[in-house]
Amino acid sequence: MPIFDVHIHIQPWSMVRRDALEMIDDASHRDAAGILSSAASVLRHLDESGVERACCINYVAPEVMGFTSEVNDWIARFTEGHRDRLLPVGSVHPRHTPDVLRETRRILDLGIRMIKIHPPHQRISPNAPELAAMYRECEARGVPVMFHTGTSVFPRARNVFADPMPVDDVAVDFPDLKIILAHAGRPLYGETAFFLARRHANVHLDISGIPPKSLPRYVPRLAEIAGKVLWGTDWPAPGVTSLRKNIDDFRSLGYGAQVETRVFWDNAARLFA
Ligand SMILES: [Zn+2]
Repeated sequence: MPIFDVHIHIQPWSMVRRDALEMIDDASHRDAAGILSSAASVLRHLDESGVERACCINYVAPEVMGFTSEVNDWIARFTEGHRDRLLPVGSVHPRHTPDVLRETRRILDLGIRMIKIHPPHQRISPNAPELAAMYRECEARGVPVMFHTGTSVFPRARNVFADPMPVDDVAVDFPDLKIILAHAGRPLYGETAFFLARRHANVHLDISGIPPKSLPRYVPRLAEIAGKVLWGTDWPAPGVTSLRKNIDDFRSLGYGAQVETRVFWDNAARLFA
């Protein structure tokens, strides 16, 4: 069964502010820097882990993380020649670009396959009017938009933006926009994320950043919405040490082949067709 991981952080770590890097760069992640040094070594690591395709998450958040809009160009270059397996993910931040629509078109033309919005790190609400032009363009082009949902403990993160409910506005206003709620609202907003996925045909959940063994607690009705759940790990975020171990742990939960096939591959393959 092929695996499609929609949430791996393949980012320019040299941009990351020191206190944010200290959150990630612990002993369990000694190998991450080497693996992330080139597309070839990332692909080798995916092969060893049994992962066929991966979304390479990047977002613009200069104040909290240090990432500027250069991340879009960086990930486009990094994945060049390997886009069948490595899908570049980028971002547009209204306070860091003079023209949201023009920047959206520019990065999609670079080959960016999904937009990431990280409300607590970008300090912006999903329903901010400045984002409407970007949503409209992504909706027209069939490009998914992924929202970080749930709290963040990184220095300077603003958890007033952690609640996914403002995405309800986005899903109502852009009914054909492909929406992914990353982390399914963990740890405080699981019920909200589940509600949004059930209410809106265009809203999906990614279960990255949740230890698979805790899924029965955080997403107790996962099997009911298995057609809208996407596999993801959030590697190498704090606490996420192995792509392979997470896959094995998910399998051990006993959802069965039908649910596993949809979560590991079918749902993401359809979204990124
Ligand atoms: Zn993430």
